[in-house]
Amino acid sequence: MTEKMLVRALKGGKNTRIVTLNGKKITKMPSVLDKLPGLKTLDLQNNQIPKVCSEISTLTQLTVLNLGNNLLKEIPEEMKYLTSLKKLHLFGNKIRKFASGVCDGLQNLILLNLNNNRLTWLPQEISRLKRLKYLSINHNQLARIPKELCFLKNLSELHLNYNQLICIPEEIKFLKKLQKFLLVRNNIEFLPKGVCDLKNLRILDIAGNIIRTFPSGFQNLKLREFYCEGNPLFLKEPVTAVQQDDAWSLQEITSRFIMNELAKKNPLVMQAIARHPLVKNIISQRRKCGLCGKYFLKIWLECVEFVRPSKRWKISGNLQLVPLQILICSYKCFNQRGPNLFGIAQV
Ligand SMILES: [Zn+2]
Repeated sequence: MTEKMLVRALKGGKNTRIVTLNGKKITKMPSVLDKLPGLKTLDLQNNQIPKVCSEISTLTQLTVLNLGNNLLKEIPEEMKYLTSLKKLHLFGNKIRKFASGVCDGLQNLILLNLNNNRLTWLPQEISRLKRLKYLSINHNQLARIPKELCFLKNLSELHLNYNQLICIPEEIKFLKKLQKFLLVRNNIEFLPKGVCDLKNLRILDIAGNIIRTFPSGFQNLKLREFYCEGNPLFLKEPVTAVQQDDAWSLQEITSRFIMNELAKKNPLVMQAIARHPLVKNIISQRRKCGLCGKYFLKIWLECVEFVRPSKRWKISGNLQLVPLQILICSYKCFNQRGPNLFGIAQV
């Protein structure tokens, strides 16, 4: 049956545009592909192909390649020659890695589906897939994503459900065209502040993570759908707690002095800091007090402000109020807070 179909395709020679061999129990990729230089679509899904044949590199007109549900262990180097490829389906394989250089040739790729594989990491080179709009890597074992992924400036959908992500890089803010961002069932504790810069984001799903609060500014996103079930979100529940004042370390005290003098543009401190890159590096991790606006380094009080979600958001039933994280520099500021700011009690 498979052979008959291939013979028919071969008769077409360079006029054959589509070859579909879906679910034919094929264990080896047909090497006659080099006789079909005009091929646009090659569908080999639901077979048992463990390796891509080298002849695939001749298919420079190919725009759609479906190798979903096979036995591939990597995204092979040969694919870098598929310079016209727009859609690449590799879901349901055993892929653990990208061969080096593979991203270089796939300059026209728009859709990449890697769902249900065994990826634990992504190469930095993924940033070379400049035209990519849809990237789906659900059901893999990613613990992190490289910041280079955030340089895919045309990316409109990013699906990372069911991985082991613990954080999202701050650089996410560079994905200016991102509309749909799915992070269901990961181990994310905080969304970076950069998320608040995603002006085109319309659908965000973070269900099943360990998020308690959102970065301040999150409430201004123009979302249409927002799902957050299964997160230990802070609720507005009054509890009494004892306040304890901390003794600050010398590093904290001096850093605060330097950072706040720098903010005032004190020329002496500015000159001195230029000669001390180590200090510069330390204070680059500074944060700003949500009340007085002064800088602090490692000691802060975590507070929550509850805001009503936008009426336009279609949201999960568990979210009455959005808890926003506000960091405060001292008890002095904390005691001057307004009625909407709550300290977090350890219970
Ligand atoms: Zn303060």
